Amino acid sequence: MSDSSLRVVVVYPDLLGTYGDGGNGLVLARRAVWRGIDAELIEAPSDEPLPTADLYCLGGGEDGPQVLTAERLRADGTLARATGQGATVLAVCAGYQIVGRAFPAADGRAVEGVGLLDVTTVRADRPRAVGELLVEVTPWDGGASSSPIGLLTGFENHASTTEVGTGAVALGTTVHGVGNGDGTEGARAGKVVGTYCHGPVLARNPALADVLLQWATGETLAPLDDGREDALHHERIDAVRRSNGRGRHLWRGRH
Ligand code: GLN
Repeated sequence: MSDSSLRVVVVYPDLLGTYGDGGNGLVLARRAVWRGIDAELIEAPSDEPLPTADLYCLGGGEDGPQVLTAERLRADGTLARATGQGATVLAVCAGYQIVGRAFPAADGRAVEGVGLLDVTTVRADRPRAVGELLVEVTPWDGGASSSPIGLLTGFENHASTTEVGTGAVALGTTVHGVGNGDGTEGARAGKVVGTYCHGPVLARNPALADVLLQWATGETLAPLDDGREDALHHERIDAVRRSNGRGRHLWRGRH
């Protein structure tokens, strides 16, 4: 943190506000404040310079606004600069594609991303991926957390597949749903995490919120009473099990 306060910025909610992913910023700020850490939550509009921050959240969006977001972020330069200086980034769906190397516009042409993650997205040769997404997150210590996140729950709604390059690693294995399209889901490198999980994903998965907060604050976080959050997490996992009868296979990968 630059001073004693944690600054969380939700990037361009006027362009990337379609899926309610701005709730991720709220979850992060609240979980910091509940622990006695001062936090500031800023919704940064696309027609103003992007503020510097400790933690950035990018959400999902439609194809046109997604292209506009990538162009404005590249022209602005703050997100790439702040990430290079150690800022933490959570990027969801369109946001995930934007922080990668390239993604398709509505007409299929490749649009240059911000390049924070070594991932490349192309239009998928299959129906749009819509539905619940379950991901078995590959354990990592993140330099701050020794506990694996375990199962990530979200919902997906996208028309593309994403290839993870050698400069990043997949966030996990897709247990239910499509994710990146090759049996993996999401990607991470350094303090940048991308995922196809809407939800908001941090409301459904407080363990991921705390990993991001630990990265951004550099502090060991006190545990919270997560009874209600955990109930939501398990309810969503159970909903998938009830809907497709694959409950016995929930913990198996799909490679
Ligand atoms: N426009 C992108 C796609 O369809 C992202 C959609 C989203 O953010 N949900 O792949």
